[in-house]
Amino acid sequence: MPIYEYRCQSCQNRVGIRMSFAEYGKKKVACPLCGGKDLQRVISRVRVAKSEDQRLDAMSDPSAFGDVDESDPKSMARALKKMGREMGEDLPPEFNEITERLEAGESPDAIEQSMPELGGAAGDEIGD
Ligand SMILES: [Zn+2]
Repeated sequence: MPIYEYRCQSCQNRVGIRMSFAEYGKKKVACPLCGGKDLQRVISRVRVAKSEDQRLDAMSDPSAFGDVDESDPKSMARALKKMGREMGEDLPPEFNEITERLEAGESPDAIEQSMPELGGAAGDEIGD
């Protein structure tokens, strides 16, 4: 069953609601966090909720990493999401924010500057 993502207008949290395709648009949805009923569909995330098979296909596509254009935030967002999935770990909360902002067309530099804590997270330097 797919998970549909919404942003709750009451508590501003992004929430995922699991329902069947048939239920979607008919079922009344409420925020699982605050009970708010004013939920706004988050369209841009639909394609993330792929089936496992499709995810594996995407990962095995060598061109997926090859065509990253660093001047294109959307391209970088795609690559980041792929990397995140391949790591298979719980991603830090900033990860979603970064990819969303990239998808929205913000430049990586601007995002980095607004999130100074990213500097230390990028890599563990050895031998210091
Ligand atoms: Zn809420």
